[in-house]
Amino acid sequence: MEPQQRSPLLEVRGNIELKKPLIKAPSRLPLPGTRFKRGPDQMEDALEPEKKRTRGLDTVTKIATSQSRAPAITARTQTQNQITAPKVPKKTGPRCSTAIAMVLKNQKSGPAVPAQKPGAAAPPMVGGRKPTKRPAWDLKGQLCDLNAELKCCRERTQTLAQENQQLQDQLREAQQQAKARGAECRTLEGELARVQAQAEQGQQELGSLRARVLELEEQQCTQEGLLRELQKEQLGLQEERRGLAARLEEQERRLQASEAALSGSQAEVASLRQEATGQAALLVEQGERLHGLEMERRRLHNQLQELKGNIRVFCRVRPVLPGEPTPPPSFLLFPSGPGGPADPPTRLSVSRCDERRGTLSGAPAPATRHDFSFDRVFPPGSRQDEVFEEIAMLVQSALDGYPVCIFAYGQTGSGKTFTMEGGPGRDPQVEGLIPRALRHLFSVAQELGGQGWTYSFVASYVEIYNETVRDLLATGPRKGQGGECEIRRAGPGSEELTVTNARYVPVSCEKEVEALLHLAHQNRAVARTSQNERSSRSHSVFQLQISGEHTGRGLQCGASLNLVDLAGSERLDPSLALGPGERDRLRETQAINSSLSTLGLVIMALSNKESHIPYRNSKLTYLLQNSLGGSAKMLMFVNISPLEENVSESLNSLRFASKVQLPPGPGPVRTPGCL
Ligand code: ADP
Ligand code: MG
Repeated sequence: MEPQQRSPLLEVRGNIELKKPLIKAPSRLPLPGTRFKRGPDQMEDALEPEKKRTRGLDTVTKIATSQSRAPAITARTQTQNQITAPKVPKKTGPRCSTAIAMVLKNQKSGPAVPAQKPGAAAPPMVGGRKPTKRPAWDLKGQLCDLNAELKCCRERTQTLAQENQQLQDQLREAQQQAKARGAECRTLEGELARVQAQAEQGQQELGSLRARVLELEEQQCTQEGLLRELQKEQLGLQEERRGLAARLEEQERRLQASEAALSGSQAEVASLRQEATGQAALLVEQGERLHGLEMERRRLHNQLQELKGNIRVFCRVRPVLPGEPTPPPSFLLFPSGPGGPADPPTRLSVSRCDERRGTLSGAPAPATRHDFSFDRVFPPGSRQDEVFEEIAMLVQSALDGYPVCIFAYGQTGSGKTFTMEGGPGRDPQVEGLIPRALRHLFSVAQELGGQGWTYSFVASYVEIYNETVRDLLATGPRKGQGGECEIRRAGPGSEELTVTNARYVPVSCEKEVEALLHLAHQNRAVARTSQNERSSRSHSVFQLQISGEHTGRGLQCGASLNLVDLAGSERLDPSLALGPGERDRLRETQAINSSLSTLGLVIMALSNKESHIPYRNSKLTYLLQNSLGGSAKMLMFVNISPLEENVSESLNSLRFASKVQLPPGPGPVRTPGCL
């Protein structure tokens, strides 16, 4: 085997290293291995044809051949002793066979020339040619030939033994190689199985990868669709962006202009701030001055009210209503004041014809004229706003912290309720004093808020009937019920009075006041009976608790405004007091008269500065005691009917009102009420 030839084993190993399929590898194993398996005997068999060829030569050759099977040691010993054996090349297989064949060929072509022994005759030469077969008699020659041949055979045997030995070595080597290759083959088979398993797994993976590829292709399609949409959208957005960029530029231009304007404004603001600081200081100074002026105004206002009289009486004559008889023109006269017709009227003359008195001639006696003078007289044509104008300043005293009481006195039907609450319907022209007074208070309180004053208002509305108190603002099941309310002090040692079970409702606007007046009207309607117009037989007291606070200066003021619609002052006609119903009426009338006369007495006692003021003599005076006397301001409207038939009650009312007027005191000269 030549060294440059690649071993098949190495080739296989190379294949394994290259990880290529080695299906044909076993077939590439060296074939000589199979030949080696035959062993020395088979080798001899392989030589059999040669032997067969030589068998035909002669018997000696056959013997020599059989002798060659003798132990090699013997043959070697002979050859070593006799012949210097030619060097046998270490070649196996066909080359060895070739060597043998050469020997045999030489033998065929002619017997080898033996070493000429002395005495032995050489075979005879014919015509100088190669000696032919020795004659039978030349036994010595034949023996010599045979010896030569034997020698040759021995050499050959020795050579063959050596070759045999080499072949056996090669066989062992080949067997080892075969064993190694078998192991290698198993390894390769294992490898193959693993590779096949890997291949199967690869196939499975390939299948799943194909499915995945399909799925990804679908996704790709979707993504491409999306991409197209996005590209479209992108185009739209780019367009929009361009529009926005243009707008932004415009805005930036404007911003720059604005910034320029702003910097100008900032400078202006700085100077304005400086100015404002100066103004603020001035404002504080002005505020101080204003507060001083406000306090001065309050003082002067109160002084003015006191000069006008802490108890004032206004007389109001209602117009003749449709369907009523027109009184004679001289029945009620309103003489002008000292300043002439331009002066607001303060006087009233009532003419009364006494039919019981007659002249001697039988002609009717001349009418008696009764003149009255009050702080102000309102003739029948006077409007509600004119009336309110006169009392607006008085009402404002309540905001300054002075209690105010306004009464409406007069017989039933004389216009008390009209004056206090207003006429029927929601006509603002006929709005009464209560809604007007509250609107005025809310408005002035708001103005005073600018000077740091904060005001709060709480309203209540009760009715005193037959010396029992009833809440006119009651709602729910208490609606229309009476007798549950009592007048109590707000707390032990407190001067403040409160009506138990009555609602005290915080109000802050005229709408809320309107709602309260409407509720009171409903409650009075519930209590009304056909026999008895209860509203005219009871006193209605609307109270507004006013609380003011100036937190900056720590000032507080509080007072109540009381607007009282008194019960009808008419007396009961003794000729009518007959049945049980009339007896109740008599009791009512007595209660009314008692409370009205107590009111008159209280006012007179206050006017006369008496030590005892009989507040407790009636529920009305008891409830109002904190708003009467002292710095409290009181105004009484005496309401008069324009009808001649009511002259008696009108005169009674006018006389009562005249009594409660202050006697002339310091300051402006007061005219006595009843002349
Ligand atoms: P009182 O409350 O004293 O019983 P009212 O206020 O109920 O009397 O008045 C009786 C009627 O006279 C009512 O119909 C009222 O509208 C009407 N009246 C009263 N005063 C005036 C007035 N100044 N102008 C117009 N109508 C009046
Ligand atoms: Mg009334």
